[in-house]
Formats: sequence, C-alpha cells, structure tokens
Amino acid sequence: MNTIEEFNKSVMHTYGRFDLVVEKGSDRVCTDENGKEYIDFGSGIGTNSLGFCDEKWADAVCSQVRAVQHTSNYYYTKIQAQFAGALCNTAGYSKVFFGNSGAEANECAIKIARKYSFDKYGKGRHKIITLVNSFHGRTLCTLSATGQEAFHNYFFPFVEGFDYAKANDIEDLKAKLDGACAVMLEFVQGEGGVIALDKEYVKQVCEICHENDILLIADEVQTGVGRTGRFLASEHYGVHPDITTLAKGLAGGVPVGACMADEKCAEVLTKGTHGSTFGGNPIACAGGKAVIERVTADGFLKEVEEKGRYFKEKLEAVDEVESVSGLGLMIGIKLKTKSAADVVSAALERGLLLLMAKEKVRLLPPLNITYDEIDRGLNILTEILNA
Ligand SMILES: *Cc1c(COP(=O)(O)O)cnc(C)c1O
Repeated sequence: MNTIEEFNKSVMHTYGRFDLVVEKGSDRVCTDENGKEYIDFGSGIGTNSLGFCDEKWADAVCSQVRAVQHTSNYYYTKIQAQFAGALCNTAGYSKVFFGNSGAEANECAIKIARKYSFDKYGKGRHKIITLVNSFHGRTLCTLSATGQEAFHNYFFPFVEGFDYAKANDIEDLKAKLDGACAVMLEFVQGEGGVIALDKEYVKQVCEICHENDILLIADEVQTGVGRTGRFLASEHYGVHPDITTLAKGLAGGVPVGACMADEKCAEVLTKGTHGSTFGGNPIACAGGKAVIERVTADGFLKEVEEKGRYFKEKLEAVDEVESVSGLGLMIGIKLKTKSAADVVSAALERGLLLLMAKEKVRLLPPLNITYDEIDRGLNILTEILNA
C-alpha cells in the first residue's frame, strides 16, 4: 500500500486533495517521497509564514516541547504571558483569548459581542451582520456567520442571529442594523476571491458601528500577522476594530487562534464563560512568539509590501492575466481564458504549489520568501500561463 492508499483507508474524505505526499521542507521548498522539490506559493494556506521549519522558529518550538508542552489553563505559563504581551503590544489591543483555530477565534469574538450587548441592553440585541461572500470558518456557528448560501446546507438547523450585508453597499448595511450587536468583516475576503473592501466603505461602517454602540469585529485570520504588508490589514484602512481575530500565520504552522479585544470589551468574558483545553498551549505560544519577533523586526513588513508589488508587476505583464487583486503577499490572479484549477494542477506537476479562491489562482507565499524563490516560482507559473 502506498501512502495515499494508506491515508485514504483511514482518513475521512472531506478534502479535495492533490496527489502530493509532503515529506519534508526547508526555506520555501518542500520535498515529496521521491525527492521531487516544490516551491511553495501557498504556505499551507497562509500558515507557514516563515516557510518550512525556519531554524529560529524550530529552535523556539523544540525547546518549549522539551521544557513543558501543556499545562491546561488551571495554571500559568511564562511563554503564554510573553506571547500575549508581545501580540497585544504589536496589534494595539488590551487583551487576548487564545484558541486553536480561526473558527474558534471567531466563535470567541461572536460570544464577546453577544455578551457585551446582553450585559448592557439585555436580550434580543444579538444579531451579527457579516458580508455576502465572506468566510468565517467551519463550525456550525461560523458557518452560519459565513455569507455564502453554498455553506448553508445539510447541517440544519444553523445558528440563528446572522444577517448578510452586501460588501461596499452602506445603505444595505444601514437597512440591517436593527437588533444588531456587531458587524464582522474581512478587509480582504480571502476564500471569497481575494477581494479588498473599499476604504470609504470601511470608514463608514466604522462610524456607524461607533454611533450605535455596535461592535466592529475584524476577521484577520487570513489577512493578519504581516500578510498584507502591515501587521494588521486594518492599518491600511486607518481603523481600529473593537475585536480582531487571528489564526493561520500567527504561530508559523502550529495550531493557534487569537481573539483580541480593546478596553471596551476586554473584560466581557468573565470566569467560566469561555475556555479551551488546548488554548494558549505553550508550544503554540512559543511558535507565535517567534513569529511576532520576526515579523516586527526592522524592515520585515516593508519587504513584504515590496515583494507583493514585485509579484503584481510581474504577473500583470503576463498576457493571460486579466487582473491581479489583493494586498501585500495576499494575491488573487484572474485569468483571461485558462481555468485556475488547470493552472494549479499544471504547476504542481512542474514543482510549484499554488492555491485557488473561487475562480482565481491565489498566492499566499511565506512572508520571508526570497526574490530568487519568487523568480523560480514565477518562471514556472509564467510558462504555464503562456503555453
Ligand atoms: C481560514 C479562515 C477561517 C477559518 O480558520 P480555521 O483555522 O480553518 O478554523 C476563518 N476566517 C477566515 C477569514 C479565514 O481565512
């Protein structure tokens, strides 16, 4: 039995997988069981922010494994204190709750919003407005929050109290405010097709929320931690949401989720109202602290922005490319005639890992990718697009 047969014998078939068995990786290149190499333009969906097995990151994680791997949240650990401090300080938030995934981080944000409103206004003011074409996760609650009909299937009944406003349409949002306690949005819709929201719209949403004591929740699970060339994508928009959630790239490939809140709602979740056995796990915190240290080092984010521009310029020069969307190293490529799925398959064959988002090819390369690695990957991609 080969690895894929062995795998499929025991793992549920919930994913459309490619025939690639990743054995190991270093820098921004991984190797399959036969020793074939693949340049990584996907980072395991924006998660391996420092590439494969970065040395400093691996040292931090491994030494934590050997010191203490888990304690439960009945006790304190220095590493969680340090990671939380570094994260809140960098992101400009008062307090953080740690979970293990993006969905959990969003679930926490939704709980904070509902309890904030309940504490202040009582029952009935519990609606969360999200955007059409959004993606917020795969738990029942975050599926309910996801503004795409295709996700609201099979698993009835879904969690009530969500409504979906059209992105960049402030009147549609205004019409849905009744009974709302929060608006939750992605500044750049990732799974929805790498689509950035209009700046003016975000400013208006922020004002409306403020005027009505409605919390603004930013789902930065994909856009956060340097992905867009700023630590948070909200910095591009000049707004500071009441709550911001992070996950994917936050700990460089160890599972983590974070829900950060400002002073207004940092104390909403009181003892016994929320929890997670693994939340704030020391190994995840060690990985996260190593990522924060790197991403906040002098010049790092500026380089992310520059590399993003470099990708955009090179891609826009390709005939087959209709348009390039996104911010920083979060890139969507709309093609003129070729199907994204065919391009992704052809790239895999040629030793390049790509992602898709809706009808686009999506790139989420490791934040520390080198120009040499970018060129090698783009050469393969360009040849496929020109063929
Ligand atoms: C990936 C993603 C999620 C879900 O994160 P998981 O870790 O898979 O639970 C939520 N929101 C956004 C914007 C995402 O990109």
